[in-house]
Amino acid sequence: MTVISNPDAPTASAGLDLDTLTMTLEAIRDYVSHALPDDRLLELDHDDVCPLDVVRGMCSDELGIQLLFIPEEYGGMGGNTLDVYRVCEQMARLDVGVATSVLATFLGSDPIFVGATPEQRREWLTEIAERGILYAYGATEPEAGSDLAALRTTAKPVMTDGHVSGYQLSGRKQWISNGGIADKYTILASAPGGPSWFVLERGTEGFTQNRPEDKHGIRLSNTAALFLDDALVPAGNLVGGVEGQGLIQAQKVFGYTRLMVAAFGLGGGWSALDRAISYSATRIQGGAPLSHKQGFTHKLIVPHAVRLEAARAVIEAVAARIDAGEGADGALNTEGAIAKYTATEAGNLAADAAIQAHGGYGYTREYLVEKIKRDVRITTIYEGTSEIMEMTIARDRWQQHLKSAGRYYPERAAGLRALHAGHPDVGAATAAVACEALTGVLEACRIGRLTRNQHVLLRLGELIAVAEVAGWFAERAATALEGNLPEKADHRFDATTLAAMSRVFARDAAHKVACDGLRLVTGASNPGTMPPDIDLGLDAARAAQAGLIADMDRIADALYGRAGAG
Ligand SMILES: Cc1cc2nc3c(=O)[nH]c(=O)nc-3n(C[C@H](O)[C@H](O)[C@H](O)COP(=O)(O)OP(=O)(O)OC[C@H]3O[C@@H](n4cnc5c(N)ncnc54)[C@H](O)[C@@H]3O)c2cc1C
Repeated sequence: MTVISNPDAPTASAGLDLDTLTMTLEAIRDYVSHALPDDRLLELDHDDVCPLDVVRGMCSDELGIQLLFIPEEYGGMGGNTLDVYRVCEQMARLDVGVATSVLATFLGSDPIFVGATPEQRREWLTEIAERGILYAYGATEPEAGSDLAALRTTAKPVMTDGHVSGYQLSGRKQWISNGGIADKYTILASAPGGPSWFVLERGTEGFTQNRPEDKHGIRLSNTAALFLDDALVPAGNLVGGVEGQGLIQAQKVFGYTRLMVAAFGLGGGWSALDRAISYSATRIQGGAPLSHKQGFTHKLIVPHAVRLEAARAVIEAVAARIDAGEGADGALNTEGAIAKYTATEAGNLAADAAIQAHGGYGYTREYLVEKIKRDVRITTIYEGTSEIMEMTIARDRWQQHLKSAGRYYPERAAGLRALHAGHPDVGAATAAVACEALTGVLEACRIGRLTRNQHVLLRLGELIAVAEVAGWFAERAATALEGNLPEKADHRFDATTLAAMSRVFARDAAHKVACDGLRLVTGASNPGTMPPDIDLGLDAARAAQAGLIADMDRIADALYGRAGAG
């Protein structure tokens, strides 16, 4: 899903102005709520049908979402990464399946955006802007999912007069969003020069699509297998005109595309949680609304609001960096992975808690949280599973730890302590505790050579993510206190509520890194081999918990609009 601001472009991207973004978010909400009221959503979900009229309406002159994603030079409006995240979150709030169908076009055009020749870009991207055609992104195969390098689809050159005039594509693609409804497809196939992207038109001889999959969730999105049997594409449809660039091109945009799926996790999670908040404000049990029961709010509502807003802090920070031109050549892929991992896991947990918060009603279809939970579940799987995210995060930061001789996280902690000096209320010192504890865990792993265990490596990915997110959240809360959040950022919560949320998240992070880290290191070490002088941060993490319940009370008050918030 790309195309808005080219992640490869070194220049800063301002994107839409605030009024245009606000109008767009409202237009999406009005259009989708009108076209897909709750009873129609439930009916389509039950019948497993993609509302093609709505998807086409959104991607054509009727709503014109596609224009946001296309740069102005190709007839679009040139939204930037921040704009696209806001739009993705809004669409996912309404329906993650429809959001997937709309965004599949932009995922499908990613290879074009980063890899095509200027002429190809002009032709194919202009066509999306002007005609609103739908794309699908054909990478996954039955035997090649997380490991795309294992792909088996082939592209055999066809020679005419001594020149390559075309390619015959043969193989099978699996789980392709818009697979049964797209007008054009970008297909990853193995050419003699290596994996390469090809643009393939619907209706090409030898190219067929299977019936839609009968899925757990996002049943309003069409997902289908593709069959390629010597399907012929002209040589000009080799993206970029050079074979062997396919995997590099796919890698280049991950920082960006994963941010968009992160926004889906955020939108789906908040959609479910907001329903739980409304429900619990009026549901009387034990003589009072559930919203007044601390045991209810502090388990099922507050921690999820905190996690979702922590994820937002990462998404907005990474979006700003991409828009400042930092994302070239996949430079922010790890940050994109942290955003996706945090937001989609948070969205999934929030939707599950929303079912619990509705009691028996949550377990039926009428209140929609059951559907949202099934829908948002996909976000931890597609565009890189959570486990692949953990691996991506851990490998990169493990290298940073080694290359910096253990200084990577102490430096981050020092920065957070400096932030704490100016803003003592945003949880920065506790986020620093998490980074310091993480340093101890990484050092213990280095000395004991514990990352030989893949389990240890992947769990480190989780600890790294939570520690880094705590830092980002503290920074966002401090920026909010200064009144300096970008005007196009989300402004739902005031600065003091964000500060309380950040403190709660930082406490969780410090506790998790110290406790899980200790368990991991002890569990993987040979008995008696753990160096006694490594501080895994348990004492500091314990001390940082002071004030936790009072902060959760404040957040609950803010979520329910009660006096006492702030
Ligand atoms: C509804 C839906 C829509 C989709 N849309 C698209 C699309 O439009 N285009 C497209 O190309 N693809 C699409 N996909 C495919 C999706 O990206 C893949 O399903 C996903 O990347 C995982 O691949 P896989 O299903 O082969 O699982 P696998 O890679 O087989 O993974 C299975 C499990 O093993 C874990 N695992 C995998 N490798 C490792 C490892 N090395 N170490 C430890 N654990 C590992 C995974 O985390 C997962 O839990 C879609 C999938 C679905 C379900």
